[in-house]
Amino acid sequence: MKSLVVANWKMNPGTRREAKQLFAATKKAADSSPHVSVVVAPPSIFLRELKSAYSGKKIAFAAQDGRAEPTGAHTGEVSLAQSKDAGAQYAVIGHAERRAAGESDEEIGKRVAAALALKLTPIVCVGESKRDQSGSHFDVVRMQLRAALLSVEPPQLARCIIAYEPVWSIGAERAMNPRDMHEMAIFIRKTTVDFKGEGGMHVKILYGGSIDDTNAADMLKNGDVHGFLVGRASEEARKLEALLRAIEDK
Ligand code: PEP
Repeated sequence: MKSLVVANWKMNPGTRREAKQLFAATKKAADSSPHVSVVVAPPSIFLRELKSAYSGKKIAFAAQDGRAEPTGAHTGEVSLAQSKDAGAQYAVIGHAERRAAGESDEEIGKRVAAALALKLTPIVCVGESKRDQSGSHFDVVRMQLRAALLSVEPPQLARCIIAYEPVWSIGAERAMNPRDMHEMAIFIRKTTVDFKGEGGMHVKILYGGSIDDTNAADMLKNGDVHGFLVGRASEEARKLEALLRAIEDK
């Protein structure tokens, strides 16, 4: 099965010209990676142009977030429907940086439901802020999953991707240990089965947090994940090429 890499550019790069350059390098790296599917989540202002200029099949596009309402009095915001119209097929929802900006579990649940209704594939981000010996990180992830999947009908689970991103590993020096990820992947599947039935066994799980060419192969081999949600290693051509090569060579 192909690995999935979701390139979350966040609020980068700074100009349209650089966005086109980064996309051209991403396309080249993706084209030489037959075992990897690539989804690019650019800032929404670049989405339509990148998508319109791209005639290949290898890369799909994602919104980095989006409101559930299609239109409305929400200054500064973009709706999931508008991103779909601009060419997105996926939507990252509940990213830790959106949660930190005040997006609630309830709002995230609405956005997941709206994405599914629009036939976008939601990439639902969950993950605890801190981890200690008490095991409370499992409670945090259970609550986030419950809220995010509240309105998801069991048959829709096959169209959902769960991205586990422990907040302490995002933008950090080191990724999480693959053995801990494996344990979390089992927990996510079990919890999804508890909430939504047997379909939960087959939900796609990504890991995110300080993934690059040095740790990706080990995480894919031992972390029980389908791929990665990647920040920094997707924002520079050289790093993305190295990452995709490391996955190919695995
Ligand atoms: C992220 O923000 O989702 C992320 C995983 O970032 P980084 O890869 O830079 O840790």
